[in-house]
Amino acid sequence: MPFLKEYSLPELKEDFKRLGLPGFRANQVFHWLYKKGARHFAEMNNLPKEALQILAENYELNTFTGSNEYISQDGSRKYLLKLVDSNQVEAVFIPAGERNTLCVSTQVGCKFSCGMCASGLKSFVRHLTAGEIIDQLLYVQRQAKSKITNIVFMGMGEPLENYANVSQSIRLINSQEGPGIAARRITISTAGYLPGIAKLSAFDCQVNLSLSLHATTDEQRSKLMPINKKYPFKEVLKACADYFQKTSRIVTLEYILLRGFNDTLADAQRLVTIARDLKGKVNLLPFNPFPALKYKPVSQATMEQFEAWLKNSKVPVTIRESRGADIYAACGQLAANIDGR
Ligand code: SF4
Repeated sequence: MPFLKEYSLPELKEDFKRLGLPGFRANQVFHWLYKKGARHFAEMNNLPKEALQILAENYELNTFTGSNEYISQDGSRKYLLKLVDSNQVEAVFIPAGERNTLCVSTQVGCKFSCGMCASGLKSFVRHLTAGEIIDQLLYVQRQAKSKITNIVFMGMGEPLENYANVSQSIRLINSQEGPGIAARRITISTAGYLPGIAKLSAFDCQVNLSLSLHATTDEQRSKLMPINKKYPFKEVLKACADYFQKTSRIVTLEYILLRGFNDTLADAQRLVTIARDLKGKVNLLPFNPFPALKYKPVSQATMEQFEAWLKNSKVPVTIRESRGADIYAACGQLAANIDGR
């Protein structure tokens, strides 16, 4: 049976015709799903019994059958969500003052094997559907009893490789009849999937774009991120510049500092040139160590020194706090750990 959360409101109205349900029932169902967070048909108490019966006979309501929840000392929560086909994906809830950010997954496993990411340890299984993506938001919102204000596509998988489902989920997340999260509060992070960046430039919902750069020469980046061999980062940066030109959204360059790999003054100088050319900003990220990954984090002093090099060159830069290291909150770490890797 199809999942209700795969449908946009016009699509659901159309499908309801087939079942003899009037269009306004679709509006009611949407209200229950996206405003009230219903996870059982019985909760939809302004629909008649017969309509609820038709819904239960024709649609699945939830894309997850359960979850394990891990709560960090810093307040972030990681959910290992069980899909109906028994695959598992992760979503991480990160509260910070008024802002509640959710990091969502877009694929089960990943094809790209980036050296600093535990998701790359899990072979690619399949894309998540739009409903499975949006249900991460609905599920966590209900579990954490907090409204999600920001969403980042930075969990397991390369979102732009699953463009059709990701863009459909964003439309729904952004829509007034859905969760209604503004486009400026939605961020897509890519490892440099070039064909997807071009598509996103033409997308009618102008979200933030973030590039996982992490290295500043082809040789260095290909070692860390094999995707660079297929889509060299200089071409990717051109596509990011095009994205900025078309959308006026400043592109963020994500840079995980790895001890003895990308933490020298020469690295910082190359990063300055890249950021300036792109008119982008830089997020410096600490590395959350994980047993199966060979890289090591830098010290706080190195982090601050690297930040100072960028600041002195007038590049907008922020050190991002590490959240949830005690619960393996970095991308893919929990799923990989549960799998015993
Ligand atoms: S960083 Fe992204 S693209 Fe690279 S392995 Fe992890 S999930 Fe895949």
